[in-house]
Amino acid sequence: MKIGERTCKTILGKSGIGSVDYAVNPYLGCGHGCVYCYARFMGRWGGHAHEEWGSFVDVKVNALERLEVEAAKKAKGVVLLSSVTDPYQPVERKYELTRGSLKILLEHQFPVSVLTKSDLVLRDLDLLRQFDRCDVGFTITAYDDRVRKVFEPGASPVEARLDALKRVSEEGITTWAFLGPILPYLSEEGLDGLLDELASSVNHVLVDRLNIKSGNMPQIRRALSEGYPDLQPLFEAAVGKESGYYAKFKREVSEKCRVRGIPCDIIY
Ligand code: SF4
Repeated sequence: MKIGERTCKTILGKSGIGSVDYAVNPYLGCGHGCVYCYARFMGRWGGHAHEEWGSFVDVKVNALERLEVEAAKKAKGVVLLSSVTDPYQPVERKYELTRGSLKILLEHQFPVSVLTKSDLVLRDLDLLRQFDRCDVGFTITAYDDRVRKVFEPGASPVEARLDALKRVSEEGITTWAFLGPILPYLSEEGLDGLLDELASSVNHVLVDRLNIKSGNMPQIRRALSEGYPDLQPLFEAAVGKESGYYAKFKREVSEKCRVRGIPCDIIY
């Protein structure tokens, strides 16, 4: 992992995501290195165009300084940590920019929404529990940790994420799971067991399909050929435009959530 340092002009940026107002991305790049990551286009900025996504992270070393200034001036609104990086990726242990951001946002009374694949979020429960409005979401793509090893090599194991969700929920903080991107057939394996576990630890789930964008298909193909070679033709057919795979999955996951009493939003 190549870790660099850079400065940013602004950090509390307007977000195009409907449920939040701002996004804070303290890092450029992401050590979780997910194969399907849509944020890989970020590599084009900062001189990383030819580097493998997941092999570099730039730390925005003046992020907290900027946030102090911007949080004091901007209208209050929900802040997402983060939209094009993971706020609790491994470098956060050392740099603590997410923790520092939470302190500033708490001081200025901005509600926060956290989305991560790392149980490092537990380190910051002391801050998260002080917000009047705060939610913590974990992305879980599949129940089988072998899928995580192939598609999300740097992220926390699935079991650690599920345990962390329980811990956060026990604090009385709103929790949710982002089931996505749904990887054809792989995300279906063990889905009942996953939803059984989530039923007692999340307030709702959000489900999204896999989109082929930002040049992620070559990496997906490589991961499939290394980890699931027999599945490759079926997988590729399922993500194709003419496929009915995701319509069927939508019906099935909606029903599985309904019988467990889990509110479920499907966003595709
Ligand atoms: S954790 Fe999120 S931002 Fe990081 S590589 Fe994975 S999908 Fe991309």
